[in-house]
Amino acid sequence: MANPKTAFYDLLGVKTTASSDELKKAYRKLALKYHPDKNPNEGERFKQISQAYEVLSDVKKRELYDRGGEQAIKEGGTGGGGFGSPMDIFDMFFGGGGRMHRERRGKNVVHQLSVSLEDMYNGATRKLALQKNVICEKCEGRGGKKGSVECCPTCRGTGMQVRIHQIGPGMVQQIQSVCQECHGQGERISPKDRCKNCSGRKIVVEKKILEVHIDKGMKDGQKLTFHGEGDQEPGLEPGDIIIVLDQKDHSVFTRQGEDLAMQMELELVEALCGFQRPITTLDKRTIVITSHPGQIVKHGDIRCVLNEGIPIYRRPYEKGRLIIQFKVNFPQNGFIQMDKLGLLEKLLPARHEINVTDDMDQVDLVEFDPQQSRHRYNGEAYHDDDDDHPRSGVQCQTS
Ligand SMILES: [Zn+2]
Ligand SMILES: [Zn+2]
Repeated sequence: MANPKTAFYDLLGVKTTASSDELKKAYRKLALKYHPDKNPNEGERFKQISQAYEVLSDVKKRELYDRGGEQAIKEGGTGGGGFGSPMDIFDMFFGGGGRMHRERRGKNVVHQLSVSLEDMYNGATRKLALQKNVICEKCEGRGGKKGSVECCPTCRGTGMQVRIHQIGPGMVQQIQSVCQECHGQGERISPKDRCKNCSGRKIVVEKKILEVHIDKGMKDGQKLTFHGEGDQEPGLEPGDIIIVLDQKDHSVFTRQGEDLAMQMELELVEALCGFQRPITTLDKRTIVITSHPGQIVKHGDIRCVLNEGIPIYRRPYEKGRLIIQFKVNFPQNGFIQMDKLGLLEKLLPARHEINVTDDMDQVDLVEFDPQQSRHRYNGEAYHDDDDDHPRSGVQCQTS
């Protein structure tokens, strides 16, 4: 069973500590995957994802949820319980919202485009093949010759058919159904006048190639809107096609805003004595990371190279930083002969001398296994919990 206090996080597949960016990304991916346009059988899932995002993206609602789960949200508090419509949340998130007269417009179509980090660094043009409905040119969207459209004689233009059904003596039942002659349109075109290009459907499916320009510095989740490129329908202004960029993970670099981050492993000798390391940049140059003799790099240290990050969107001659976190590999046991250890020790900074007296016990170190010893550690932790307490107790006894 789902955990009532983390179910919303689980739905979005994020940790309970997820940042607002992580939530957005998770929602974006799932909402596009389960949108009824793409996955008509997952309506319930689409709704749940929207509700989870609606709550977790709102600081106050998220706090309420973290404390009391979904129950707390339903009981209200902020903004009078209940959830928004999944479609409204989707439209708001993917833009295209905020327009007036939306009912006069066809709906927006959102597509996700998978983009490499290299493409976002260098810029790229991608061609996207889509199928879309366009108004038939031959009949200009009428479905047949001019003047050939007539009121459907079967339903008299209502689009509905009523049948009377006798179910017993003196008892009749009215059954209403969509008119089979005109498929609910209320009008028809006699077969001989029907447009041959669209078979009277007024629209035809056309293959359309969209050129998507990915500019340098664009980022994951960025939207590119193609106004009026959505499906055409007679009497409606077409909606937009919205392309959402989805950045693929890179094997070396992670993007952090305008910065690139990476990890670099060093051998101990490099960490102590300096090193040079080549890196292939995202535009295929080779830069040599150099640490001069005398500069020491510790395990976990973070350094950066200026101007080797991601180009800044619309100012591509400026770039962020390349941030490198170092991992220093220490040598294995036995890497040096015992009789040479003294030599090494002479070269290293002196150790702190300690005095071991007879009343002290010398204990050896063994490998640490967190599973095995957890039990004992908990017990001791409780005793040491209050640091001041034992000390004051000792003072009482001696004074
Ligand atoms: Zn036609
Ligand atoms: Zn009809």
